[in-house]
Amino acid sequence: MTPEQDCIFCRIALGETGATFVYESDDVVAFDDLEPQAQTHVLVIPRRHISSIAAMTRDDHALVGEMFEAVSSVARARGIEESGFRVLTNHGQDSGQTVFHLHFHLLGGNRLGPLG
Ligand code: AMP
Ligand code: ZN
Repeated sequence: MTPEQDCIFCRIALGETGATFVYESDDVVAFDDLEPQAQTHVLVIPRRHISSIAAMTRDDHALVGEMFEAVSSVARARGIEESGFRVLTNHGQDSGQTVFHLHFHLLGGNRLGPLG
């Protein structure tokens, strides 16, 4: 099975699930998390399947920049640029990663708890 068929975030990026994109470019899309952990909880993902940050290579440097550009754009659009926000990404078992397609969580809109 190809990643596109197997992976929920590939399917979302392909527009197969009907998810609403809050940001969209050639290489990156963003959409609301299904189970929000904050008032704003958006996931920013590359359209291309990359299993996690640990699988990124030098060739992906521009893509990382684009993902952060998407984060800033969504934070502005959601009005949380001033109040503050957090960006995080999980890799592997100890982090609790559950979806194995790279994603940045953008969290904000209320006071966030401590990390860890
Ligand atoms: P992680 O634990 O870092 O792998 O985060 C995966 C995130 O994806 C969780 O916050 C889930 O709530 C979210 N999630 C899983 N499936 C979907 C989906 N179909 N649409 C939106 N968010 C999802
Ligand atoms: Zn994928």
